[in-house]
Amino acid sequence: MSSVADHGDSSTPVVPNMAIGSDVWPGLSKLSEECGELIQVIGKIAAYPDSPHPDGSDLRQRLMEEMADVAAAIEFVQITNWEAFNPTAFTDRRRLKLGRFLRWHKDEQGRAAS
Ligand SMILES: [Mg+2]
Repeated sequence: MSSVADHGDSSTPVVPNMAIGSDVWPGLSKLSEECGELIQVIGKIAAYPDSPHPDGSDLRQRLMEEMADVAAAIEFVQITNWEAFNPTAFTDRRRLKLGRFLRWHKDEQGRAAS
């Protein structure tokens, strides 16, 4: 499927808002699509955590690929919508959340071991 829509009233194709190539929030629809694909794989892992998925795919490989796709889509949105982002605030927030998640993980693992 093309990201460029032909609305039929002009010979010039129109790029939908939020699509890659748009002037309005470029890449946001791709980020949404990639997040959906990642959620789909996580759902499959939740249902089949220790066994192959019935569709025969390697869920660890698919998880890695979809996480990479989401990371790329996030970076694309950052780059192409830079005026909407405060890079310092973004980095600070990312570090804050990562630190919190790692602390929660360590706390939970300590609790489980005791
Ligand atoms: Mg993908």
